[in-house]
Amino acid sequence: MYSKSEMLFGKAKEVIPGGVNSPVRAFKSVGGTPIFMERAKGAYMYDVDGNRYIDYINSWGPMILGHAYEPVVKAIQEYATYSTSFGAPTELEIKIAELIVSMVPNIDMVRMVNSGTEACMTALRLARGYTGRNKFIKFEGCYHGHADAFLVSAGSGVATLGLQSIPGVTATVADDTLTAPYNNLPAVEQLVATYAGQIAAIIVEPIAGNMGCILPQPGFLEGLRKICDEHNIVLIFDEVMTGFRLARGGAQELLGIKADLVTFGKIIGAGMPVGAIAGPREIMENLAPAGKVYQAGTLSGNPIAMIAGYTLLQTLNDNPVIYQQLAEKATYLVNGLKEAFGAAGIVHSINQIGSMLSAHFTEYPIIDFSSASAANNEIFRRFFHAMLERGVYLPPSAFESWFMSNALTTEDLDQTIAAAKSAMQAIK
Ligand code: PLP
Repeated sequence: MYSKSEMLFGKAKEVIPGGVNSPVRAFKSVGGTPIFMERAKGAYMYDVDGNRYIDYINSWGPMILGHAYEPVVKAIQEYATYSTSFGAPTELEIKIAELIVSMVPNIDMVRMVNSGTEACMTALRLARGYTGRNKFIKFEGCYHGHADAFLVSAGSGVATLGLQSIPGVTATVADDTLTAPYNNLPAVEQLVATYAGQIAAIIVEPIAGNMGCILPQPGFLEGLRKICDEHNIVLIFDEVMTGFRLARGGAQELLGIKADLVTFGKIIGAGMPVGAIAGPREIMENLAPAGKVYQAGTLSGNPIAMIAGYTLLQTLNDNPVIYQQLAEKATYLVNGLKEAFGAAGIVHSINQIGSMLSAHFTEYPIIDFSSASAANNEIFRRFFHAMLERGVYLPPSAFESWFMSNALTTEDLDQTIAAAKSAMQAIK
């Protein structure tokens, strides 16, 4: 069933460390051989052995309207004939920045980069440059990319590999990273009191997606906003996952809470390598060349990436009903999954918001990294493989969020639910 994938993985390990270009793809958490993909269209991915999968990762978020979305493909094809990169400004960069500013609350300006990692790294540098302070607070289990400062209690990929600390991240760098449990305001208050006047930023996934999907408890984000206001700390919402996915204006719009800086990735590039930092003029103009906080990129604002992102964002902006449809599809799926797990007598805790969700096998609510870690990973592992055999591609780790696309039909959802019922009966 997976013979070509197995053969390719063997070859890949000879020339690529671990056989993959990003660790979670290696299936370490669930075991087995990663599936090598050949093509994808709409809600489906097709592997090199000719198997078809209903896709619930959607490239970890970007494919919100499904794979190979035709307007995006066409735009890329057309622009590729102009040039794949100029290294000089284009009008397109203004158009996408204007569109983003019109969609997202509380921002005046946008700087384009090439990944979510770069976006968060730049946001932190900017907050440090703006405040003149060094330390920052992040939350256990939140992932903000692989820049050194963030690789402390860093969620999904790192948790999947069972790593406590990362060789290569120096103690000096890690010393400026303060961590608190997600959804725990008293822990944040304590840190702010202990390091009074030293904290530049609090960075948070407003809805966490890197320990499974975890919702902020009522008052948590409001509390962070208040602390930041009282202590002149920059509140950074990492909306790499949630931006343009949960609402046109992301979590800020959905939850009605203002951030000082926002980072984006994933959907903003429609599957091309793009990230962005956005915020008010007062902070953003500290970035070079307007200000002294240096940041640059040979391929930043790349025309192919910009036209892909612009085309997708425009569709989302013009059709907000997509968000309602996605949420309805997710609720339908979650109800079906609950029924499937319940029928097999398997305890479960499913978190969902809009088109993001995750299933943990535990009777307890999942509210932070400790509760996510305490769930039964062995059941998840077996469930994952049973679903794969039944043509459903789930994230290969319980610490990852599932991302739905609007290309999914009711028939796809029914097939997924039927697969879950049969998978659960097989593994119980
Ligand atoms: N921030 C969040 C919330 C993420 O989920 C990710 C990646 O999954 C990143 C930052 C890093 O983005 P990238 O993988 O594009 O560097």
